[in-house]
Amino acid sequence: MTDNFDDYDAFASAGLRLTVDLGALVENWREMAHRSGRARTAAVVKADAYGLGIEDVGETLYSAGARDFFVATADEGATLRLYAPEARIFVLCGIWPGMERTFFENDLVPVIASEEQLTFWMSVLSEYGDYPCALQVDTGFNRLGLPMEDAIALASDVSRPASFAPVLVMSHLACGDDPSNAMNRQQLDAFRKVSTAFEGIEASLANSAGIFLGPEYHFDLTRPGIATYGGEAIPGIANPMRPVATAEARIIQTRSVKAGETVGYGRALRLTRDSRLAIVSAGYADGYMRSLSSAGVPLRQTDVAAGHGFIAGHKVPVAGRITMDLTIFDVTDLPENLVRAGDYIELFGSNVLVDDAARSAGTIGYEMLTSMGLRHERRYISEEIEE
Ligand SMILES: *Cc1c(COP(=O)(O)O)cnc(C)c1O
Repeated sequence: MTDNFDDYDAFASAGLRLTVDLGALVENWREMAHRSGRARTAAVVKADAYGLGIEDVGETLYSAGARDFFVATADEGATLRLYAPEARIFVLCGIWPGMERTFFENDLVPVIASEEQLTFWMSVLSEYGDYPCALQVDTGFNRLGLPMEDAIALASDVSRPASFAPVLVMSHLACGDDPSNAMNRQQLDAFRKVSTAFEGIEASLANSAGIFLGPEYHFDLTRPGIATYGGEAIPGIANPMRPVATAEARIIQTRSVKAGETVGYGRALRLTRDSRLAIVSAGYADGYMRSLSSAGVPLRQTDVAAGHGFIAGHKVPVAGRITMDLTIFDVTDLPENLVRAGDYIELFGSNVLVDDAARSAGTIGYEMLTSMGLRHERRYISEEIEE
């Protein structure tokens, strides 16, 4: 056997591949920073930077000027630290006994979000001395955060240890993606009381959607996630962000099938015309969710459209049920020479927006992006980054 495999290009032959446009990522983050006005703009890179890779995304946004980052877990923070040496890294899940070392060694800032964490944090301070933290206050979401009254009492508690020095007080919006929802204003009013109580300490309320709600919501630091990755922050208005991620699956085989025959598991789809099908190398185990199937799944009994791919300038619908590793597309309407084994079909990207694919699956762009799993080749392109 010859063994000259030097020209093997994993990306060019992958079954499923993801292209991440770092130029678009930076442009989107800068747009968020611009819309944040006088507030500083953080970068939220939890869940492996929404599935796009915390290393490359973290390093790129750090180079673009981001100096505040939010991750979910301390492990994510430890990874990010290698790519964002001088940044403040906030850990949203806070700190638990036994994790002190991970925090100290990587210079991570815990976001204290409950009475238990606060008690533990005070004991850490009495043992180790000064160390920064952030405080999350619940203003109505009822997920993480100290109750408002407790937070305000804490702010004016003269007996609290001097080493307890929060650098940020924050809260999270429940309905930011629905600008007309009265909850936004209620949370804003509540958070104003909190930030006033913690006068002199930076305050942060807005995620991507909150940035779009306007300057009152921006406070000192904004926390965009999804918009940076090109996703919709507010459904129902034109999304001004540039798509960042493109997922493409390779056509393994095409086949011609007669009218009246059925396709796939459960014979869920019966063809009404002679058809040409393309079988591609991605399925629900890759995050191309089964609910995108064209038939034979509960969601298709609603009026939500099934999933679509895009190839050679045309949208092509999913045919039948999506399976673990494979999806079938109906390419009957395209000339044969435009769809051949080895070609790629876009699952989402600039032609099929990730949020539209997500809607077809009955979910949101966030889940579509973070569901991509591990079985893909990833490539980063970055020509367009300007200083
Ligand atoms: C995930 C998250 C964000 C970012 O939200 P997007 O909607 O993606 O902009 C901001 N703040 C907190 C607390 C979060 O959990």
